[in-house]
Amino acid sequence: MLEMVEISGIRMENPTVKTFTLDKRVDARPGQFCMLWIPGEGEKPFGFAKLDGDVKIMVRKVGSFTEKMFTLEEGDLVGFRGPYGDGHFKLKGKSICAVAGGVGIAPLLPFIDEALAEDREVTVIHGAKTGEALVPLKRLKGEATIHLTTDDGSCGRKGTTCDVLEELVDGGVDQICTCGPEVMMKRVMDIALERNIFCQLTLERYIKCSIGVCGHCSIDDSGLMVCRDGPVFEAGQLRNSEFGRYRRDKAGAVVDL
Ligand SMILES: Cc1cc2nc3c(=O)[nH]c(=O)nc-3n(C[C@H](O)[C@H](O)[C@H](O)COP(=O)(O)OP(=O)(O)OC[C@H]3O[C@@H](n4cnc5c(N)ncnc54)[C@H](O)[C@@H]3O)c2cc1C
Repeated sequence: MLEMVEISGIRMENPTVKTFTLDKRVDARPGQFCMLWIPGEGEKPFGFAKLDGDVKIMVRKVGSFTEKMFTLEEGDLVGFRGPYGDGHFKLKGKSICAVAGGVGIAPLLPFIDEALAEDREVTVIHGAKTGEALVPLKRLKGEATIHLTTDDGSCGRKGTTCDVLEELVDGGVDQICTCGPEVMMKRVMDIALERNIFCQLTLERYIKCSIGVCGHCSIDDSGLMVCRDGPVFEAGQLRNSEFGRYRRDKAGAVVDL
């Protein structure tokens, strides 16, 4: 059911990413998502960047909905429904590696919090095209091992998250979780599958109904739906699927990655 909730806080993470705190608490698992509604702009899916206490949503400005979101201020109302999705991050290993591209760090944060609370060893590999596009990870400092990468070398190591993952992965990583550009996640998945490491990925597709009815976000050839069965999937569920090859645009037409 849609309800209007107040934005109680806004933090600028970098020039294109803001974190919105909502006056709303939810009983959700890391990786699940909600639908946000702005009158006149429609609804879009967003993961939870924080689950204990008031919900936080980290938004990257990419198009009309997120541009409108960036004009909202503390005290404004936004429509909220959720949580949705059966697929969520599951703690399986002692040593966990989270691989995040850009704002893909958002849905991994509640899982990282859970893993740290359970005394797991957590390594975070966070990458972006430039230093400006990285999300500050101050609250994880001292608790998790953090590796930063940028394509242009302006912050952290020059290269990609997967370059770092390939170096670390044989040193005792027993669980990988990832969110970010699909090309990156596909490489992460292949690295994990080659070594038989438990790996979960959170998939981005156009979600319309969010409850498994319209079928817009179904994945070829399995028919799994991102909104109902995901958005977090295990690597084995996505092997031999459209994942890493193509996706569908707003109208349902195939778009190569
Ligand atoms: C389960 C889920 C969780 C998400 N969590 C977050 C989050 O925590 N933070 C966040 O910033 N974004 C998140 N997103 C993405 C977010 O929903 C889109 O960025 C948003 O819909 C963009 O809307 P827009 O109108 O601003 O841009 P649009 O005009 O719709 O799109 C702008 C550009 O982004 C591309 N794009 C937009 N949505 C998608 C999509 N679903 N799949 C592939 N390409 C797309 C378009 O092709 C276009 O190039 C999530 C998506 C899903 C499915």
